[in-house]
Amino acid sequence: MMSDYLARCQVCNAKIGNNVCKKCGRSVCENHYDMDTGLCSACKQGKVFVQKGLR
Ligand SMILES: [Zn+2]
Ligand SMILES: [Zn+2]
Repeated sequence: MMSDYLARCQVCNAKIGNNVCKKCGRSVCENHYDMDTGLCSACKQGKVFVQKGLR
């Protein structure tokens, strides 16, 4: 039960965020997580993640 409670990826909001960015602490899916740096794609790009609804 409550399986849908699992945190979604904070980048694509489509997949389950199994990984936590060690910089911003967001849950992100494997597509948006860099294993080498432990950062999400937003942090890896050196940009502050701002949710503006832009793609
Ligand atoms: Zn994602
Ligand atoms: Zn991050």
